[in-house]
Amino acid sequence: MKFLISDKIEEKGILKLKEKGQVEVETSLSKEELKNRIPKYDAIIVRSGTTLDEEVLSCADNLKVIGRAGVGVDNIDIDAATKKGIIVINAPEASTISVSEHTLGLLMASARNIPQANSSLKDEKWEKSKFLGEEVYEKTLGVFGLGRIGSEVAKRARKLGMDVLAFDPYISEERANELGIDLSIKEKVIEEADFITTHVPLTEETRHLISSEEFDRMKDDATILNVARGGIVDEEALADAIKEGKIKGAALDVFEEEPPFGSELLEMDEVIVTPHLGASTEEAQVNVAVSIANQVLDALEG
Ligand code: NAD
Repeated sequence: MKFLISDKIEEKGILKLKEKGQVEVETSLSKEELKNRIPKYDAIIVRSGTTLDEEVLSCADNLKVIGRAGVGVDNIDIDAATKKGIIVINAPEASTISVSEHTLGLLMASARNIPQANSSLKDEKWEKSKFLGEEVYEKTLGVFGLGRIGSEVAKRARKLGMDVLAFDPYISEERANELGIDLSIKEKVIEEADFITTHVPLTEETRHLISSEEFDRMKDDATILNVARGGIVDEEALADAIKEGKIKGAALDVFEEEPPFGSELLEMDEVIVTPHLGASTEEAQVNVAVSIANQVLDALEG
């Protein structure tokens, strides 16, 4: 079997494939080079850097599997692949724990103003009273989307002594009960939560799921977290809500435009930010590479 790895993946995934066939790692191919080379491979592994459009796939005469080491498959023309009988596989579960832990990190960081206090002390200021924080213990966490990441966040929050209320119209009461979490209606989650975290996919339905109407209903001291996708939280409405004192602040890992340079949110003390770091851990990188290698091999070996 011949494999092409056209975007960088962690070595452990490459070794798995090497046990079963010939692996070539070429991470800077132009579109023309890719078109010329792709006919000889049985499988290709990409991240987001390689575009597999109809033109490239039309040359992929022996390709049986495309492995996307990660979640989003926007760089792959799924229809063109399907027409050629090529299976497309991704690895959405590999970063679940990392993203959940990052969410908890942002939750604690915003409750205790850790990033702001860090910057202040490094500016040689000792502003103890300015950074009076709050406990998360016995506070309510509202979770939008109780899928892979939302459930892990909810489990961890309960272990911190938080009450968890969740809104997810697509999961059963049974599944929520297994997790020991109360499913609720959107309005109740919005109105009762002290911290609200979103873990839904970005779709037409979820774009601006949290916008002015929701900010109006939130507690004045609520904090909103978005570690899912930019666009789920309406950034303009968020900035207005903070300025008008409708909520306390926000913690954001993802943005409507990335990087969000020029956004007024970056100027606000009440907003803490990270540059889309949710899945950026050594473990997630290994998990994603090994998971995609195993799945590609399973697909090829039937
Ligand atoms: P998942 O598919 O397992 O879970 C999504 C959940 O959202 C599902 O249970 C679904 O029923 C629910 N849902 C869908 N529409 C909804 C709506 N309108 N209201 C409430 N719930 C709704 O997905 P996941 O793996 O848990 O990923 C969640 C999010 O995290 C995605 O947006 C994903 O892109 C994002 N993500 C971010 C990073 C990062 O680096 N920050 C990394 C990986 C994933």
